[in-house]
Amino acid sequence: MIEFEEALSIVLSGVTTTGSERADFADALNRVLAEDLCSDVDMPPFDKAAMDGYACRRNDLDGELEVIEVLAAGDIPSRDIAEGQCSKIMTGAMVPRGADTVIMIEQCRETGEGKIRFAARKTMSNIATKGEDVKKGDVICRAGTLILPRHIAMLAASGSTRPLLAKQPRVGILSTGDELVEPGEVPGPGKIRNSNGIQLAAQSRAAGCIPNYMGIVPDDAKATELAIGQALATNDLVLISGGVSMGDFDFVPGIMKKNNVDILFQKVAVKPGRPTVFGKSGTTPIFGLPGNPVSSYINFETFVKPLIYKMMGHDYHPLELKIPMGVSFKRKKADRLEFLPVIVNSQGEAVPARYHGSAHIHAISLSVGLMCIPKGILNIEKGELADVRPL
Ligand code: AMP
Ligand code: MG
Repeated sequence: MIEFEEALSIVLSGVTTTGSERADFADALNRVLAEDLCSDVDMPPFDKAAMDGYACRRNDLDGELEVIEVLAAGDIPSRDIAEGQCSKIMTGAMVPRGADTVIMIEQCRETGEGKIRFAARKTMSNIATKGEDVKKGDVICRAGTLILPRHIAMLAASGSTRPLLAKQPRVGILSTGDELVEPGEVPGPGKIRNSNGIQLAAQSRAAGCIPNYMGIVPDDAKATELAIGQALATNDLVLISGGVSMGDFDFVPGIMKKNNVDILFQKVAVKPGRPTVFGKSGTTPIFGLPGNPVSSYINFETFVKPLIYKMMGHDYHPLELKIPMGVSFKRKKADRLEFLPVIVNSQGEAVPARYHGSAHIHAISLSVGLMCIPKGILNIEKGELADVRPL
């Protein structure tokens, strides 16, 4: 049995990256950028009014101002501002030459036909100056960035409509178990629905991969061998759930070896997910994940996701928040690192979810994070800070 950190470093060593391709920026969400992107424009591209108001000279604010034109966003000013003059201007419109200030409409009163007066204390200039946010040629997104909704607007504004992206790993997913039926069926006696297949596919998709669900494999050595061989031949990464523990029908590790998989670890000091198997067939990584759905879910988050991102050139570090415990927590054994589903209560405190163990997917579905309890720690008192990874 090896420690979690050692297992993770094995998973993350000697990783083969997937290469890159150009794609439409509208399809870039949750994918990894493979080039530095530069802006082809200044942001803002011109001195721009930040308020609806009047563009004028700051020195003229004490006197009456003559309104010489009205500027909407998108207009080009036709007149420069001279002493005692102003142009009515809308937010986002180009500030006319000669003006150094935009006074807010709410702070002015009309004093006659086409005349206004500033009726407040002098404020800021209310002008966003050309290039103050981003200069033309500046890098706006680095290679390796995971593109989230908050990056998409930068791609759009900088004209990066065909970014170079890491190719998406194709993830082959197999579910082993004679007891499994597909979710659309009603399970007969002794059977359960295959929830891991769709779960691992969803996790793969959310991590920017192309999931390739390859079906249920019966607990039969020959069928398992065939399925693993096929999965290795047609995917960049393979995930098999079930069949990795000590039962009479847990063929997976043996069959992996038969398929020329070099097994790199087979047991990890982590809860849940002790019997996690990891190996490589050539450069193709393959995981044998425990069948219990919470185990396979958490193992994906802790082992598979960092690998997937590394294959795409993204240096992934899960966010870990320090959150005060809302209750005291105690466990019987401290021989393993443990990930426990938690909720966050209305006071913003971490509270372990009602959880019966690694088959209890309902607990995960109601949780918002995983609390990490280090090896050697038996108790965490109410009020102490717990390490929580948001899910
Ligand atoms: P195993 O790792 O094959 O020994 O399975 C451990 C437990 O997880 C057993 O209770 C299985 O019925 C259950 N299990 C295995 N595969 C799946 C799956 N694909 N979906 C839901 N539960 C599963
Ligand atoms: Mg099984």
